[in-house]
Parts: sequence; C-alpha cells; structure tokens
Amino acid sequence: MNDWKLWRKDGTAFDVELVSTPIRENDRIEGAVILFSDISERKRLERELTQLATMDSLTGIINRRFFMERAEEEISRAVRYNHPITFFMMDIDHFKNVNDTYGHHAGDVVLKNVSQICLDSLRLNDLFGRIGGEEFAVLLPETPLEHAKIVAERIRQSIEKVRWNIDGITVSCTMSIGISQLQRNSKGLHQLMKAADDALYDAKNSGRNCIRIFQ
Ligand code: GH3
Ligand code: MG
Ligand code: MG
Repeated sequence: MNDWKLWRKDGTAFDVELVSTPIRENDRIEGAVILFSDISERKRLERELTQLATMDSLTGIINRRFFMERAEEEISRAVRYNHPITFFMMDIDHFKNVNDTYGHHAGDVVLKNVSQICLDSLRLNDLFGRIGGEEFAVLLPETPLEHAKIVAERIRQSIEKVRWNIDGITVSCTMSIGISQLQRNSKGLHQLMKAADDALYDAKNSGRNCIRIFQ
C-alpha cells in the first residue's frame, strides 16, 4: 500500500492510495489489479491535525510544545558541532494593562502584530514560538551573542515605535528581552531557557522595554 499523487486533466494534483494485487495463473504472475482511491480528504484532515498540534491558533506561529521539540534538536546539533546558539525570552510589558484598558480583543490584535514584527526581524532558520500568553521565545542557530544582541535590539525598537489603530483607538506596547547563549558543557534547552528567563527578570526589574544578557 502506498500514497501517491495523480494529476487531473486541468493540472491540479490530488492524493491517492494505491493498492496492487497480483493476478496469478499456475504460480505465474500474469498481471495485476491496481486500485487507486482518492484520499485527498484524509490528507487534508491529517495536515489540519498536524497544524493544530504544532501551531498557536491566535498568532499562527509555532506553539510551546513544538518549539521545545525543535529547539532540543537544534541544540543537540549545535553541541555536537560546537556551533554558537543564542536564545531570547521575550515578554510584553504590562500587557495586563493593554487588556484592561482597551479590551481583550485589542490584546489579541497586539499579540498577532507583535508576532509579525518579530517574524519580520528574524531569519528563516530562527525558531520563533509563542510559549505563554504574552511570552515568546526565539532560538537563533549559528548566531554568536554579538549578532543576537543586534537582532534583539531591532525587535525591541520596532515594537516600541509602532502604533496600531484598533477600532479607532491608538494602541502601543513595549517588550522586554532576556538573552542567553549556549555554554560549553551545556546541559541543553532547559539551562538555556532558565538563563534567558533570569535575564528577562533582570530586564523587567531594570524598568522594562530593554534587553538584558545572562552573565
Ligand atoms: P509584566 O510587564 O511584568 O510582564 O506585566 P504583564 O501585565 O505583562 O504580566 P502579567 O503576567 O501580569 O499579565 C499577562 C496578561 O496577559 C494577563 C493575561 O490576561 C494576558 N493574556 C494572556 N494570554 C492572552 C491572550 O491570548 N489574549 C489576550 N488578549 N490576553 C492574554
Ligand atoms: Mg508574562
Ligand atoms: Mg508581560
């Protein structure tokens, strides 16, 4: 049994399952009956399920679970080849105030827009996920600290500058960012996350809307 693609006359492709049964005559194979069934609907549902399991439905970026899974893989690779990796823990400042002042819908719009700004500032190979309500994480493979600081600062400034018009009201926000880097003899993702979390805590205590690096 095998999954294949077939093409309609108009050039569009669809998924098919192929089952082939040999026709035997006196122990000799004389031919085969090949049955194709259209399984596009099953494939569509499979894709939808994968998306539900890996994506955050509000922002469209990857969710915590999938982020952690992919981050573990990237970190193992970096440790194996002794390549640099940096990590951001990012948290929107006083986000509760955004909800309380402008409403939950406005809060949702801000979350979507903040995600988009971050995406626009990152490379395709960077891993970016929503790991909590208004918390995001970034893993930057092949990126030394000096370069990561520039990326984090670019994200922070872009968010600080932007003003959104949500139902006729101007809304803005700021973001605090904690940065950590993969150490020699690293204990992996949890150590990297904990260090970035500590740096984020430091950024919050330093007045927010700033970046701090785990020392
Ligand atoms: P801090 O600067 O210390 O991070 O303060 P904060 O207000 O951002 O932090 P706090 O953890 O007190 O509040 C986070 C808020 O985020 C509370 C919660 O209602 C809101 N939130 C979490 N998920 C969502 C969401 O999906 N949509 C909206 N609109 N709000 C959310
Ligand atoms: Mg938070
Ligand atoms: Mg917050």
